[in-house]
Amino acid sequence: RAKGAGRARYCLFDEEMGRRMLARRAMEKDLRQALARGEITLHFQPIVDLATGRTICFEALARWYEPSRGLVPPSEFIPIAEEIGIIVEFGNWFLRRACREAARWPADIRIAVNLSPLQLSRADFIQQVEAALAESGLPPERLELEITESVPLVANQAMREVLCALKSRGISIALDDFGTGYSSLSYLRSFPFDRLKIDHSFVREIPGHGQTMAIVKAVLDLARSVNVRTTAEGIEIEPQRIWLQAQGCSEGQGYLFNRPMPAEKVAEFLAGECTISQRQPHVATPPR
Ligand code: C2E
Ligand code: MG
Ligand code: MG
Ligand code: MG
Repeated sequence: RAKGAGRARYCLFDEEMGRRMLARRAMEKDLRQALARGEITLHFQPIVDLATGRTICFEALARWYEPSRGLVPPSEFIPIAEEIGIIVEFGNWFLRRACREAARWPADIRIAVNLSPLQLSRADFIQQVEAALAESGLPPERLELEITESVPLVANQAMREVLCALKSRGISIALDDFGTGYSSLSYLRSFPFDRLKIDHSFVREIPGHGQTMAIVKAVLDLARSVNVRTTAEGIEIEPQRIWLQAQGCSEGQGYLFNRPMPAEKVAEFLAGECTISQRQPHVATPPR
């Protein structure tokens, strides 16, 4: 009896695996056409100066609206795009699109664009960045590139040289999702990052989790001592903002301030913020 049940389970599992594999193949196929079909867009989330409450930057975040699946989150489609190699094409498009949008914003507002390590490993990456800047007219000082520590990339001399070349052109480099990778400290030592983004998973445990708070405090002290700016990701509640600011975190990002918004909302948002911040610097805008 047990043997039979085992075999039945095995068959079910097998079918389930087959179904998943088919769904995955279909997703890959649709993803290859998504850019051409105009299904991919960027949304923009404000990054706020914690001391003044003003927006100083927007992070560009990829969105895929697929007619039958609805909104597919980047956590699902970016890894697939990386595996099938189209992330390079996507990433170049994101870069151009983000620079073009940012060039229309006030001159003191910057744009942060996420990079896949695969983009950095391409020989023409610097040319792609330069083309995006030239086409849009965006000054390099207004562009920040976010890289994640999910793969050991600055250990790689070639990639380190690419990052240095970008930096020497006036572009800033942020280390994204800090604390979640496996080589955070060696990263900081091997490349002069301009900014460190403290991952949401740490911010979520503030206040209350003593151990996490001690680690975040130490990271903020460390960043300050090596002259690196800090952004806390995923700030959702006021006590998080207050504590992070008190510990010397320079910028914040999260639903407390605003959710990512479509490009056409940005100008309106900035105009509204102007009026609000004159009255009360720390007021959070209600969710749309
Ligand atoms: P990330 O770069 O760390 O982006 C921050 C993520 O946190 C975004 O999720 C954002 O919507 C979300 N977030 C912001 N504030 C809050 C908050 O208060 N609470 C919570 N729970 N979440 C918040 P999103 O847009 O789903 O992006 C997820 C990840 O996908 C990004 O993480 C990034 O690693 C990747 N990604 C997104 N766009 C791109 C892109 O254009 N290129 C590449 N290579 N990766 C991208
Ligand atoms: Mg990011
Ligand atoms: Mg991040
Ligand atoms: Mg993150």
